[in-house]
Amino acid sequence: MDQRHLRLSETARMLTEIEDFAHIGNWQHQLATGTSVWSQGYYRILGLDPTEPPPAAEGLLTLVHPEDRETVRLAYERADDAGADIDIVYRVRRADGDERIVHERGRGETGPDGRIVRTYGTVQDVTDSWTAEDRLAELTWADPLTRLSNRHAAQRRLEELAAEGRTAALLHFDLVGFRLINSSAGLAVGDQVLRQVGDALRVIAEPRDLLARVGGDEFLLIRPDGDEDEAVALGSALHQAFGRRSWGVGDHEFVLSCRLGICVGPADPQRSLERAGTALAHSRFEGETTVWDAAMSDRMRHRAGFTGRFRRALGNGDLFLEYQPQCDSEGRLLGAEALVRWREGDRLIPPGDFLPLIEDTLLIHHLSDFVMHEVGRQIRRWREAGHAPPPVAVNVSPRQFADLHSTVAATAAAVIAENRLAPGDLQIEFTETSEMPLSTDQPEIEGLTALGVPLVVDDFGTGFSSLAALMALPIEKVKIDRSLVALATTHERTRVVIETTLWMAARLGIRCIAEGVENSEQLLVLRAAGCSEFQGFLFGRPIPPDEFTARWLDPSPRDDDSRS
Ligand code: C2E
Ligand code: MG
Ligand code: MG
Repeated sequence: MDQRHLRLSETARMLTEIEDFAHIGNWQHQLATGTSVWSQGYYRILGLDPTEPPPAAEGLLTLVHPEDRETVRLAYERADDAGADIDIVYRVRRADGDERIVHERGRGETGPDGRIVRTYGTVQDVTDSWTAEDRLAELTWADPLTRLSNRHAAQRRLEELAAEGRTAALLHFDLVGFRLINSSAGLAVGDQVLRQVGDALRVIAEPRDLLARVGGDEFLLIRPDGDEDEAVALGSALHQAFGRRSWGVGDHEFVLSCRLGICVGPADPQRSLERAGTALAHSRFEGETTVWDAAMSDRMRHRAGFTGRFRRALGNGDLFLEYQPQCDSEGRLLGAEALVRWREGDRLIPPGDFLPLIEDTLLIHHLSDFVMHEVGRQIRRWREAGHAPPPVAVNVSPRQFADLHSTVAATAAAVIAENRLAPGDLQIEFTETSEMPLSTDQPEIEGLTALGVPLVVDDFGTGFSSLAALMALPIEKVKIDRSLVALATTHERTRVVIETTLWMAARLGIRCIAEGVENSEQLLVLRAAGCSEFQGFLFGRPIPPDEFTARWLDPSPRDDDSRS
């Protein structure tokens, strides 16, 4: 007994010496009881009193550098939940204030029932051996902001896989909505969001994956030996992770989504990276998750030619506006919506076909300037000809608001001044999307509100809009989307949604207009629900300005008073 005790204490002493010599410490943690045992060396590394019991995980994390905390927390969590290996380098601040760099390795141990019963680890203080070379390597291979890998590291990993003759799935994605965060909440919040994204990605990825930040808001996940099904499943996990939560802090909370390009194949580094990038570029047009295919580049060239043609159309008058009437239930004119048209040869290209292609380019701003100036001139021409034109609504794309180049408010101010308009002669229609969630401190919204130009939320009831969210905003009117109107007569639940929207809007003092009203049954249902403003083919189609003048503004009594 004594002998054994002696041997044990002798072993303990030797262990302490070894620990001391190698700057090592050990710990283990029983999951069932929540108790931990630390070696002397571990206490010493952290500068804590060895006569005290080990602190709980949360207390321990407060010693970890804030930037590294999430990494450590995640590593512990994965070891607790799945027995995953712990292999992390992080900074700790000792009780005496000294900052140390530690390397920790450990894992979870499975019990007979397959559950993790114990985790244990070895921590080494590597501050002194952490040479300039190591730091350089870290700087070279890691992204200092998110502490994910960087582009070089990703490339190197692909080269390794290629050398081993293995395949890989590459997921290249960027964040939709990130620009707005940077432009409205500032770079510090933007950085924080990127870090949060990095942490969220670590949760989704498997230990064998490589995660890298390869550009401002662009990330890359490499899954060795991954196939297309796996990559697509991983992609949907990514989309879900973005949809589930908000990003940022406190007053600066934002919604983000991502766009994703996938390439699966032999890990030829250069080609794989290019293909994943091409697929990402295509995801804008071909769906939030886009898998690379060989015909993609042809389609891209076609699109590039398209923007060139659009640019010329803007310059040479092939873009023009039509005006669609907005009426009360008796068909009396209340307003008009300006809708852009592109005539190319004898073909008319609808806005739905070209807007998505220019929305990501500066052309969207040129288009918007063109439309607003043209509407301003038209209203003035109408007045000069003795007509009393109603307010005209102009559409702006959500992405315009999110963009630093946005000039919506400034252009509106210029148009109003140049044509001696009242602010209420114009209305700005926009759709709320996940990319452009509305907030009062959005500069363009602020600018337009200060000018007194009424704001209209378009396509209300599709996807993202909620009246509650709008309460905080200076919204004049919401436009019930035509997809709801189309179902109003046949689908009971849709009718309830419309009724509730109208009721809530009325209580909030927000006007409502229904769009896409095509027949008198729809009109009846909408009227019964309390709607009093309408737009749709029942009242009139979009028509060129001269026709609009003759049909809707000419003061002389009309022969043909039937609705077109
Ligand atoms: P929107 O703002 O919701 O415009 C209403 C769309 O519904 C128009 O399509 C209009 O022609 C159509 N519409 C009107 N009444 C009816 C109806 O009774 N039944 C049906 N089935 N459709 C009806 P359009 O002109 O093809 O415009 C499509 C979208 O393009 C617009 O949707 C708007 O979001 C966008 N857009 C149009 N002009 C501009 C513009 O100048 N700038 C921007 N940024 N977007 C524009
Ligand atoms: Mg509209
Ligand atoms: Mg609409």
